[in-house]
Formats: sequence, structure tokens, C-alpha cells
Amino acid sequence: MGRPREYCGLFGVFDCDDAVEKVYLGLYSLQHRGEESAGIASSDGTRIIHHRGPGLVNDAFTPQILKGLKNPHAIGHVRYSTFGPSNIDNAQPLVVRYSKGEVAIAHNGQLLDAGTLREDYEVHGSIFHTTSDTEVIVHLMAKPSHVEKPNLSHVLNHLRGAFSLLFLTNDEMVGVRDPNGFRPLLLGKVNNSYVMASETCALDQIGAEYIRDVKPGEVIYVNKDGLKSEIYCSPRRIRPSYCIFELIYFSRPDSKVFGESVHLFRKRLGMKLAEELPVDADIVIAVPDGGNSAALGYSLASGIPLDYGFIRNHYVGRTFTQPQQRGRHQRVELKLNAVSEVVEGKKVVVVDDSIVRGTTSRSRLGLLRKAGAREIHVRISCPPHRFPCYYGIDFQIKDELIAANYTLEEIEKFLDVESLGYLSAEGLLSCTSSPRNFCTACFTGDYPVPSEASGKKISKREIKGRKSVTV
Ligand code: SF4
Repeated sequence: MGRPREYCGLFGVFDCDDAVEKVYLGLYSLQHRGEESAGIASSDGTRIIHHRGPGLVNDAFTPQILKGLKNPHAIGHVRYSTFGPSNIDNAQPLVVRYSKGEVAIAHNGQLLDAGTLREDYEVHGSIFHTTSDTEVIVHLMAKPSHVEKPNLSHVLNHLRGAFSLLFLTNDEMVGVRDPNGFRPLLLGKVNNSYVMASETCALDQIGAEYIRDVKPGEVIYVNKDGLKSEIYCSPRRIRPSYCIFELIYFSRPDSKVFGESVHLFRKRLGMKLAEELPVDADIVIAVPDGGNSAALGYSLASGIPLDYGFIRNHYVGRTFTQPQQRGRHQRVELKLNAVSEVVEGKKVVVVDDSIVRGTTSRSRLGLLRKAGAREIHVRISCPPHRFPCYYGIDFQIKDELIAANYTLEEIEKFLDVESLGYLSAEGLLSCTSSPRNFCTACFTGDYPVPSEASGKKISKREIKGRKSVTV
């Protein structure tokens, strides 16, 4: 395989008559962030009930299930696993009872030392019910020394890595972002109810207004008294390192993420790409849907007309939802079709958002060749992925990254194209309004938070927990 996989999406509403319906709709809008499972936990102020199911939001919930969950406070989660296998035990929100009561937790991101922490707890007798890193947070909360503390700050200060979190207790919703703000989380309002979500497209879905992003290192408590915010860590730990791949690839183009319109940002990438890597060609085409905005930018900046060289079959699920390699390849062909009337005999610029492992790109470009394209020039709207990500994206094994293991010429040959070009890291950052605030570690190797894996020894447990994707 494959395309990089999304990790998770979060959505919560506090104090609203139809909170559960709104969370359901919000999760629907965040479906692109996780297709393996979906869950909702809700509270009436005295107890938490929940439902989690495998597959898409639509598969996980029926009208009866939603009716059974009806309560004024609710949080929800869509999941793709970056740590721990994909099974229903690992679906979220996780709901647990401990000495302070009941709590539901939904997590987007990846804790850096979850494997080691988990081993420590197990050595001291703790029993884990899931293999997800999120359960480590529950055990931290339940630790006697932490239970005595007045709020969550003490626990949050023990976490390292990428974590946007939503908690629901009987009478409170809590939103948290890690000190680097790797993953998005934002605050909105619908009528008089506060909402928290991963992306603005989910707020739009329920008619909520966007208020602001949760800040890196901030915890926001929402309860019957209103909203209370605090910075839970020392200012020295706060170093904005927003995942730039959210903007390049993951987030929906109609969302605003980290203060940027995702569509306009990608369009700027395409314009920059045309400036850095011009081609003498007849048409520009996008690899849909990820390459759409950048292809438009490339066409506008180069003056080469944009056309639909690929048509996407929207009734086929996303490429990577098939666990077997053979299934993935079949899906690539089912999902895209090249339009021979558009590309036959033409010199074509193909714009895509990324090449991580290379195999999906090769299948797609092969369709174009079969359809009669005379020359294929691939332009990628980000730099080559040469380093693994340890902050919640599924490319964690360097051997699987094509650009980490092969030269540009070798990749061109593998893809069977006339030329291949990637946007430079400088070009990428010049398209943001705050270049210093982004993580670019998978392109540059400059990790904002050192991990065991990036420099030190990785625990056996952590390696075991990772998903290995065969190219
Ligand atoms: S390493 Fe890449 S994918 Fe991971 S958080 Fe940083 S920019 Fe995002």
C-alpha cells in the first residue's frame, strides 16, 4: 500500500437537547479522519452511557441506538489506529469508572512513551483492557497521587507526544491540546451550547459558530457554570508545532485548520509548485480528491489548462480500508478511472498531495499510461517523506518510505514517469502565515519532541503495538 492514514476525529457538545444527534452529524463530517470505528458517550448529569461500533459512522449507529443514547452532554470519536491493532476494544470513547467517578475519553494523536508507561504499570499490577495508548491516560488518572490533585493538569503534565483530548464526566466536558498543538482542536458554540471539534467543517455541519482554537498547552472545562480555561504546563514547554500534513493532506478542504483555509493553502502550494518546477505540458490534472486544490493552483500559475484526467468513483470506500494488500490494489483500480479522451497523446502534469510508499501512485499513474498519455510529469505538493512520524500518522517505519530509500531517478523509474518533482520545504513553509509554528519532521527529520524512536531505544511493546504496512 498506500496512502497515509488519518488518525482520529473528535466532536463534543455540552448542554444541548439534541447533543447526541449533533455529535452524530459532527462525526459524519469528520469521517475522513477515521473509518475503522465510531463511538459516542453521553451523560444526563448522573451517569455515562455509550455505544461504539466498527466501520463508518453510518454503520456504527442506527436511529434506535442514537435514541437510546439521548442525553444533553455527549462526546464522539472516529478512529483510525496508529497504536494498537484495529479492534472494537480499542474503539473510543473509552469509558471507565475509577475512584473519582465515571469518565469517557476520546483521543486524537499518539503518546510518545505509551509503551514504556504501559510496561511500568503492568509490572506494578495494572490490568489493561485495550492495546491503545489512550488507556495509559486512564491509568495515570487513577494513580492515587494524581486522584488527590484538584484537576487534570497534574496528569496532563505527565503526557508526552501528540494529544488532542476530549473528556466527558457526568457533569463536565473537557478539551485538551498538547503543548505543541500537533493535532487540531477547536471551540465553537451552537445556540448557548459549547462545542469542541477537530475541524471547522464539523461545526458548519451543525450550524455552530467557530469561536477559537484550543491553544497548545490549554485545558478548557465546560460545565453548568460556563467555560473555564487554563494553561496546564509551564510556558517553556509550549512550542507550537502544528502538523503541516493536516493542511497538505488530512483535513477537509472546506475546513479552516490552524488558522488557514485548507483549500486556499493547497492552492498556494500548487502555485508555488508551478514556480519551482515548471513543465512544458498540454494539460494539468489532479489525482482526486487530495490533489484537486493544488492542481488548480498549478494551472492558474502556469497558464496550462486544468482538466479532469481521472474520475473518481465515490461509491468505493477509501483505498486503505481493506486490510489485505490484494484488496487495496483492486480498490485503487475501482476507485479511479483515467479519461482517455482527455489524456490520450498529451503531455500531462499530474498533481498529487504526497507519495509516501509509492505503490498506490504507481497503480494510478499506470492507469494514465494505459489511457494513452504521451508524457507523464508528476508534481507533488510537499517535500519527499524521508522520516517517520511519531505524532499520530501511520508512517512510522523508515523502510516503508519510498523517498527515504530510493533516489529521485529510481522513484521516477518505479512510477514509470518522464519526470517527478517535489515542492521544497522552504516553498511549503512560505505558503503558511506562520512558518515557525509548524512541524515538518517527516520531511526534515527535525523532531519538535524527541522520542525514543527518533533517537533512543524503542521498547519492544511499542514496536509490537505499531501497525506494519507492507508496500
Ligand atoms: S512528522 Fe509530519 S505527519 Fe507527523 S506531525 Fe510532523 S508534519 Fe505531521
